[in-house]
Amino acid sequence: MPRPHILILGCNFAGLTTARYIHALVKEKADITIIDRKSLLSFVPNIPLQVLADVNPAIDLQYKFMTFLEHDGSNFIQADVLSIDADSNRVTYRPNEREGHPVRTIRYDYLVIALGNRLAYDAIDGFGEHGHSVTDAFLGNRLRAYLHNSYKGGPIVISSDVFHQGASTHLPPGLPVALAACEGPPVELSFSIAHWLEKKGKGGASSVYLSTPAKVIAEDAGETILNQLLPMMKKMGYNYKADTGGIGRVHEGGIEFNDGSSQEAEIAIVFPDWQAHSFLKGMPFTDDRGFVVTDLYMRNPVYKNIFAVGDAASITVPKIGSLGHMEAVVLSQTLAAELGAFPGEVKPLEFEILCMGDMGGTMGFYMRTNEWWGGHESHLEMGATPYLLKMGFKKMYYTLGGRIPQWGIALSEMVGDHAFF
Ligand SMILES: Cc1cc2nc3c(=O)[nH]c(=O)nc-3n(C[C@H](O)[C@H](O)[C@H](O)COP(=O)(O)OP(=O)(O)OC[C@H]3O[C@@H](n4cnc5c(N)ncnc54)[C@H](O)[C@@H]3O)c2cc1C
Repeated sequence: MPRPHILILGCNFAGLTTARYIHALVKEKADITIIDRKSLLSFVPNIPLQVLADVNPAIDLQYKFMTFLEHDGSNFIQADVLSIDADSNRVTYRPNEREGHPVRTIRYDYLVIALGNRLAYDAIDGFGEHGHSVTDAFLGNRLRAYLHNSYKGGPIVISSDVFHQGASTHLPPGLPVALAACEGPPVELSFSIAHWLEKKGKGGASSVYLSTPAKVIAEDAGETILNQLLPMMKKMGYNYKADTGGIGRVHEGGIEFNDGSSQEAEIAIVFPDWQAHSFLKGMPFTDDRGFVVTDLYMRNPVYKNIFAVGDAASITVPKIGSLGHMEAVVLSQTLAAELGAFPGEVKPLEFEILCMGDMGGTMGFYMRTNEWWGGHESHLEMGATPYLLKMGFKKMYYTLGGRIPQWGIALSEMVGDHAFF
């Protein structure tokens, strides 16, 4: 009997880790194919660090994963995914190493969608000419060049546009709704850039204008953490504004918000709306915005052979890699159980934020909380340990090819929850 074919679309954090976890459980019981348009993983969370250190983010943050997939016996195809036909179990793709390939079709028994999102910078008027960000190497290098060569010491705005979260009657009930997709990075960058400004003698926290379209920044960090964080940032001198209504326009010398207010800015660093890829919109397995609908086992409730993980999944809010990581564990166990390769009981996803941020000067912050989802965990620590954990995570990820052992995460939590320096 032919082995079932598991097709994974996307090979960044969510796709690579899921592929490797599935293989570790299922081994020879299934064939695995992964498709991504690039054959290097972008280690996005560390881009701001390299920008401030004046190091090209393309140097150490584009990670070669191919030997790990070869070692597992998984197939990798470098191609653009074009469409999914959920009724005939087929995906169309076009290999993209060279121009001129015909469109090809691949059949699957199980489909895992780990394609992330499109970041809608093109929806922000003036971004192309006047906006900055840190979400990929191109933008990282653009900001790096300005900061290190041209920056005159003016105000630095850090702000998010409105996120349009998807809805569907097939989603688990009671999910909280966010007005910004991912506000860990703006908070992290506020800390690290203020440290950089001080070090360079060009300002400090009072040069940073942090704002959010939501009632409060990083609302998913939960009340307990925010009640510590926000007064602390105010005391440090940060300028802070909530309820901006989103970004209206970025222009030379400033930014305009949708609530009618504006802010002078020499540099406007913005985080856009995280949107679903256009070819996923209107699919029978996606929500009203094109994010893939799943239950808490990462499986689509209607098309039961379709799964999603990471930013592409509708339930991944905020759009943060640590949630994607937990989803990868649940998804791989669910699929393995279906193939008779997981003996235990599969536990559904339990939402939690685990975030380690750089604060500059080898200091960092650590957050672990589930308050936003009604839980009672809430840990905020600052010091050298969170920074070491952040850097240690990258090392562990690279060494193990994305297959972080469960004890690795548990150890990080134990150390982070009790950081003493
Ligand atoms: C500045 C910044 C800092 C961050 N810091 C943290 C942090 O400290 N901790 C944390 O947990 N999270 C952090 N995040 C969030 C984290 O980076 C994302 O949640 C994570 O990258 C999502 O992983 P993913 O694999 O789901 O999607 P992505 O990383 O977006 O990967 C999607 C993959 O799909 C591929 N793809 C997309 N469309 C196609 C197509 N049509 N055909 C073929 N391939 C396609 C892409 O090439 C890509 O490899 C940060 C984000 C930013 C922007």
